[in-house]
Amino acid sequence: MDEDLLQTIGAAREGVLARIAAAAKSAGRDPASVRLTAVSKMQPDGRIEAMWATGQRTYGENRVQEAEARWAARRERGEAFELRLIGPLQTNKAREAVLLFDVIETLDRVRLAGAIADAASKLGRSPRLLVQVNTGEEAQKAGVAPRQADAFIAALRRDFSLSPEGLMCIPPVGEPAGPHFALLAKIAERNGLAALSMGMSADYEIGVLFGATHVRVGSALFGAR
Ligand SMILES: *Cc1c(COP(=O)(O)O)cnc(C)c1O
Repeated sequence: MDEDLLQTIGAAREGVLARIAAAAKSAGRDPASVRLTAVSKMQPDGRIEAMWATGQRTYGENRVQEAEARWAARRERGEAFELRLIGPLQTNKAREAVLLFDVIETLDRVRLAGAIADAASKLGRSPRLLVQVNTGEEAQKAGVAPRQADAFIAALRRDFSLSPEGLMCIPPVGEPAGPHFALLAKIAERNGLAALSMGMSADYEIGVLFGATHVRVGSALFGAR
């Protein structure tokens, strides 16, 4: 293990955790109510080994194939960690995703819900689910439109017996994140959903102020990709 890398990554993680705790306290929240997801996509193995050595056990990946290459062996060895899919999921990869991930944060289509429900019942493994909401209504971005979110969540429960535990969003680049996080929190509240995955390296403290239960941090922990 590269000692310098261990030192650098350990310090970065301590720094992020301290800032999460400070943001939580200033919002009158328990710092333990916010989980840090270390986004390991496209990071070199050495950095991930160093992060693992710090005790970090929740990781986010945005591609099924890349995640499988990196994490399947650890899973087979029986090591305990939580793996979260934070990137778009194609229907034809639903089976692999259900097998590998503990949480799928990017459920946003009826057809995908069907594929996940089907794979889960065949494989006897049910990842926890978040619904991605396209709060900025950006044409190129995944996620259900805010005004369709209630109906989509109702359909998951009614038609697929799926129980999403929360919502996820990625605010538009170059816009203040706060209003997007506030909108996500509002949709979650009126649908009785507890989990809110919001906030990345540039805005995770804002996420915490607006009620994030999970923040997804990559470059602020690992360095630039
Ligand atoms: C890459 C990624 C992140 C982490 O981004 P950083 O800016 O490096 O923290 C978080 N969420 C999603 C959905 C991502 O794709």
